[in-house]
Amino acid sequence: MREPVRIIPLGGLGEVGKNMTVFESGGDLVLIDAGLTFPRAEMHGIDLVLPDFSYVADRADRLRAIILTHGHEDHVGALPYLLRETGTHPTVLGTRLTLGLVKSKLDEHGLGADTELVEVTPDGSRVQAGPFEVEVVRVTHSIPDAVAVVLHTAHGRIVHTGDFKLDMTPVDGRPVDVARLRALGDEGVALLLSDSTNAENPGTTPSEMTVGPSMREIIARAPGRVIVTSFASQIHRLQQVIDAATVNGRSVCVIGRSMVRNLNISRNLGYANVDEERLIKPRDLDSVLPHEVVVLCTGSQGEPRSALTRMAHGDHPALQVHPTDTVVMSSKAVPGNEGNVGETVNRLNRLGATVLTENNAYVHVSGHGSADELRSMLEMVRPRFFVPVHGEYRMLRAHARIAEQAGVEPHAVRVADNGSVLELDGEGLFVAGQIETGMTLVDGYSVGDVRDEVLRDRRRLASDGVLIVVATVASESAKVVTDPEIIVRGFEAPDGERVELVDAARDTVDEVLERCLANRMTEVNLLQQELHDELASLVHRMTGKRPMVLPVVVEV
Ligand SMILES: [Zn+2]
Ligand SMILES: [Zn+2]
Repeated sequence: MREPVRIIPLGGLGEVGKNMTVFESGGDLVLIDAGLTFPRAEMHGIDLVLPDFSYVADRADRLRAIILTHGHEDHVGALPYLLRETGTHPTVLGTRLTLGLVKSKLDEHGLGADTELVEVTPDGSRVQAGPFEVEVVRVTHSIPDAVAVVLHTAHGRIVHTGDFKLDMTPVDGRPVDVARLRALGDEGVALLLSDSTNAENPGTTPSEMTVGPSMREIIARAPGRVIVTSFASQIHRLQQVIDAATVNGRSVCVIGRSMVRNLNISRNLGYANVDEERLIKPRDLDSVLPHEVVVLCTGSQGEPRSALTRMAHGDHPALQVHPTDTVVMSSKAVPGNEGNVGETVNRLNRLGATVLTENNAYVHVSGHGSADELRSMLEMVRPRFFVPVHGEYRMLRAHARIAEQAGVEPHAVRVADNGSVLELDGEGLFVAGQIETGMTLVDGYSVGDVRDEVLRDRRRLASDGVLIVVATVASESAKVVTDPEIIVRGFEAPDGERVELVDAARDTVDEVLERCLANRMTEVNLLQQELHDELASLVHRMTGKRPMVLPVVVEV
């Protein structure tokens, strides 16, 4: 009786983002992907959100390898944090471009030297990764060099598609390896895990190639500068914009650290092609005429400090947006970012620019396959068991229905959650349990130090404000020395009652202190506690608000 293979998704199910899945056999662990997600607006001050990888940390000495499907942040972004927090050095496997992008990320975190990167090639060859033989199969996506991963296990083959679309005319001319996927189906696949992002969209997703002609036309017609934003990792898109600029005889200026970096890595590794003389530096923008340049920049998701967001706020050192500018949002807002993106678009309109988005122009196609492509994948691979991954719950359900239509037995389709413990053995695929999962928050460089209560405080400050009271008492006589100082921030009493609130608060402070001191209660912590309780109820009575109340008693 051989041990089952355990499969535990730690992120990416019931959400779009932070993809990470554990594959375990005989106590040894291999991960497919280590992604992050960006915080929602109510997570004040949080920079990044990682999967809760305590399951991996608890077994860090048995983590053998991390296999990366492609270089997007939602698949590789947590890697440096995972390596640092677990203190382990598993082998990292990925294709050439993926490793190129990851290498520079690890170097930034000072982890480059300690991490063994092993290049895998989608050519049918196999590499040993812990308990499994690993093979990668070329797929198409919105970043070059994306692959599906095949784990050859004691209980059959497991195929994880990574992110994919079936683009028959890819920009780099390297199509999906349909022959290998079909052959895998012939050889027999025990389990397929497949990308569900666009499972609700009928039909097929248009080829990335179709964006090119539209870009050329937009640039040809634009009277002035064209400013295009997209994901910094969308190398094919950047290439198409550069080609469209070239056809129109325009120079290209790239603004934004991550975009400059990704484009350089891609050029060095042969995944992007730009004539050096076509590129100009941001500081030289003023020396070219507006209709002679295309600007490529970061900020497609309305990220607060990105190039386009700063331009939209009139706060970018190298570029002021003019009414003759055309801004192209060559991307879609990731769920959760719609507000920020909308704000950017409105501000650019306010500056008089012409703003083209996927709502009013053909400027973006998705990198994820729609229903017909997902069905084709299922029909090629013909798995015995199927688990939809990479998507919100409704997308996973839609993908499950597609699988049943494609011939997978209904009982063999499992819609799982983050933390579901699935076991594959000779008998079948079973849900064996559930481990605790959630998220790890990154605030600046500290990982996981931001606890729920900190976040709760931040939310409270943001929604209800703060009342600060500073009272000075003499340590010897225990008498109140000066009038207490009352500071109100982030909330207001109803009109006309603001002064009354401050006066009432001051009276309350006097009363509480007098009462306490009369009872020989001079311990500062106790005084503060009394003040807090009385003031909180006073404020709530007068304003209906529950701000954070911070009494400070100073002894002199
Ligand atoms: Zn992706
Ligand atoms: Zn993804």
